[in-house]
Amino acid sequence: MPIRQLPDILINQIAAGEVVERPASVVKELVENALDAGATRVDIDLEEGGSRLIRIRDDGAGIPGDELPLAISRHATSKIASLDDLEGVGTLGFRGEALPSIASVSRFSMTSRRGDAAHGASLDVDGGRVGAVTPKPHPQGTTVEVRDLFFNVPARRKFLKAERTELGHIEEWLRQLALARPDVELRVSHNGRPSKRWKGESDLLSDVRLNETLGEEFARNALHVDHAAAGLRLHGWIAQPAYNRASADQQYLYVNGRAIRDRSVAHAVKQAYADVLFHGRQPAYVLFLELDPRRVDVNVHPAKHEVRFRDARLIHDFVYRTLQGALAETRAGTAIGQGV
Ligand code: ADP
Ligand code: MG
Repeated sequence: MPIRQLPDILINQIAAGEVVERPASVVKELVENALDAGATRVDIDLEEGGSRLIRIRDDGAGIPGDELPLAISRHATSKIASLDDLEGVGTLGFRGEALPSIASVSRFSMTSRRGDAAHGASLDVDGGRVGAVTPKPHPQGTTVEVRDLFFNVPARRKFLKAERTELGHIEEWLRQLALARPDVELRVSHNGRPSKRWKGESDLLSDVRLNETLGEEFARNALHVDHAAAGLRLHGWIAQPAYNRASADQQYLYVNGRAIRDRSVAHAVKQAYADVLFHGRQPAYVLFLELDPRRVDVNVHPAKHEVRFRDARLIHDFVYRTLQGALAETRAGTAIGQGV
């Protein structure tokens, strides 16, 4: 075959392979967009585990009607404009890839209104084929509808699991998010019935939310940690050793508000527990690491599950020492924070 330039739709469908694995990845990208737009409330309506319908409505800033076609164009973003912005990026999104990817493998529509606009506007995309912008009433904010995910990519659609399984993945991701953003109200419905609701509470992670997400027993055994040094801050909750798990299912790590997996930090936590946990048992924790965004590269993976630290060793040792100190103090009988 001669070399040829691929058409845009196909390029987006190829990118979708990396960004859109299953309905939960769509929910993740769309809710992150809502949060980046400053939403205080996000409604998530699902049908058939999200494979039939994912509808996300937010009360964020909204998009001007004439920018809707840009929003679903590849590499179009309002979040960065230069390499310098990228290096200090504070938003969850920045690649300008999610919407075109999702819209290329679903029946997609986006309706939005900015606070200052007289009326809303809507744009449909069918399997990557973009329609025209039409006026449509909408309160301030944005609604994105994703129907029939992978309808035009049978090989991917075939790999979708049972409704319960897909819903489980969505809820697990929302749980992660709910822990990081207790200030945002999240409402979920599935097949027309309300299924989950996290009320927007406050800036602080309330024990209510800890209870709801990790269970009462975790909350009862949780030690509050908050320590800063060398421009790093680690805060959150770790379970006392008496509460431990057979698997790593209650290990939540956030870096600058983004849920990530990191071997080095996970290792540091395990090390801190090494003397106080039985071999093979796993600690439970919800930890937030905050640092200058310039010290961490978030542009490592299209789905942004991983980051790269400029000074990984320093961070490892900081996490280890902070938690080891906290655990040692409880053993000595002087909890550094109160159990929640
Ligand atoms: P990214 O989030 O990386 O910028 P996306 O493809 O997810 O890329 O979104 C493209 C652009 O569309 C965003 O930069 C933003 O300007 C706009 N956008 C998407 N979703 C929303 C939303 N819910 N509210 C306001 N603007 C949005
Ligand atoms: Mg995005």
